[in-house]
Amino acid sequence: MTCIGRDPLCPCADGDACHYRDSGKTKGFPVPPPQPDPTTDTAVNDLAHELWAIAQSPAPIDDVVALMRDELHKFASAIREKP
Ligand SMILES: [Zn+2]
Repeated sequence: MTCIGRDPLCPCADGDACHYRDSGKTKGFPVPPPQPDPTTDTAVNDLAHELWAIAQSPAPIDDVVALMRDELHKFASAIREKP
């Protein structure tokens, strides 16, 4: 079972009670906010720059949109292939 606090050191990883769940009178720890995935962040940043560069092109809109679509498809498959 996955820890709701995404804490690999949480005792629930060993089958014990989870730190992040209330247990009897003990209040659970606040669940930490999800950490941004740095891989995705970098990829999104790269994509944004790529799209900006394409948008600067004086090419006809259809050509520009086709390039953007290619980039977005590449991005989408990269995300899908992520482990
Ligand atoms: Zn836990």
